Amino acid sequence: MATQKDPGIAALLEVVPGLFGFLGIGHIYNGNLGKGIIFLIGYWIFLIIELILMFVIIGFLLIPINLVIILLSAYLAYQDAKKFGYEPRQQQQQQQVVIGGVEDNNKKSKRICPKCGMENDRENKFCSDCGYDFTSIKK
Ligand SMILES: [Zn+2]
Repeated sequence: MATQKDPGIAALLEVVPGLFGFLGIGHIYNGNLGKGIIFLIGYWIFLIIELILMFVIIGFLLIPINLVIILLSAYLAYQDAKKFGYEPRQQQQQQQVVIGGVEDNNKKSKRICPKCGMENDRENKFCSDCGYDFTSIKK
């Protein structure tokens, strides 16, 4: 659970600080520290070049490129976060409701108590928390 990243948050962390000149936060959020720093420093270098170009007017034409870079970086962060196997919250809830005591893909050796949500070993006949009788569920 701790390694799962929300692609929406990763993308948001690219866009919002990105608009203030801090790109790469979403990548750092994903655990890609190196990538985040490359984006951060790379973007700063671009901003400096842009600032210099502003003096010859052309710089203003580069502003849309800023947005493209930010959105591209946000998209990459979004895709990276998805790679970590994040499942949307809605889907997770649905699984728990539907499967009841049956295992899901991530927890083959565990079963979730349909009564209290406690994780139990597959072998347990009763929930270790509330005493729910797993033998009453068909596999
Ligand atoms: Zn229970």
